[in-house]
Amino acid sequence: MFSTNFAHLMATGKKYDVIIIGSGLGGLLCANFLAMRGMSVCLLEKNKQFGGNLQTFSRDKRLFDTGVHYIGGLEKGQTLYQIFRYAGLMEQLKLERMDERFDRILLEGDDNVYSHAQGYTAFQQNLIQDFPEEKHGIIAYCQKIREVCRSFPLYSLRLQSQTKEIYKGNNENAASVIASFTPNKKLQAVLAGNNLLYAEMAIPHLSMFMH
Ligand SMILES: Cc1cc2nc3c(=O)[nH]c(=O)nc-3n(C[C@H](O)[C@H](O)[C@H](O)COP(=O)(O)OP(=O)(O)OC[C@H]3O[C@@H](n4cnc5c(N)ncnc54)[C@H](O)[C@@H]3O)c2cc1C
Repeated sequence: MFSTNFAHLMATGKKYDVIIIGSGLGGLLCANFLAMRGMSVCLLEKNKQFGGNLQTFSRDKRLFDTGVHYIGGLEKGQTLYQIFRYAGLMEQLKLERMDERFDRILLEGDDNVYSHAQGYTAFQQNLIQDFPEEKHGIIAYCQKIREVCRSFPLYSLRLQSQTKEIYKGNNENAASVIASFTPNKKLQAVLAGNNLLYAEMAIPHLSMFMH
């Protein structure tokens, strides 16, 4: 059952195995998984429309994404692929692969267009091309990103019992971590370039796992 009306829900007097509050992607998927396991689930949403950050809105006939602009982890075996496949969504999604250079970073007072490329190798090579003198820092930075992703459950799906190392650096600050790999301010800005996607203007406070 999906309800945006708590009073209506109470009036029915019905009992559920699980009540989930919030119908964003997280709530929707949890409800789906539990229902697949035979549980009765009630999903509560405070807004008129369900979907949370998956929604769009329009201004002057232009369509904007509320949150999700693009998604990663959809290669076979990767995290979102596994989750969406388990939910029976993979076959229904009409996905379009983005350009290899999926993000373009423009810096004030600089005519160059910097980019983030898909996959570790391309990402690394692409940045080394733009900042050859920072090669070692870029390689070390990519190793750090790999380490964070490997040890952080969100980016490396496995059973909790199989989780040997859990990411301990939750409080690590992204800006200081980036600065520890390169003193080059322009490269620092390029590496932090897509943090704005997460509405994260206060980049100095952004944590490393979020980055
Ligand atoms: C600006 C922005 C850009 C982003 N860009 C991307 C991107 O490009 N790619 C990507 O993969 N991810 C992106 N994300 C992240 C992505 O949107 C979220 O990870 C994902 O949508 C979170 O889903 P969720 O279910 O946890 O929360 P939400 O989608 O936030 O859903 C929470 C729901 O709970 C409801 N709720 C809250 N409190 C209550 C209550 N008390 N009672 C009832 N209902 C309640 C809310 O109304 C909402 O519908 C972006 C996020 C933002 C903010």
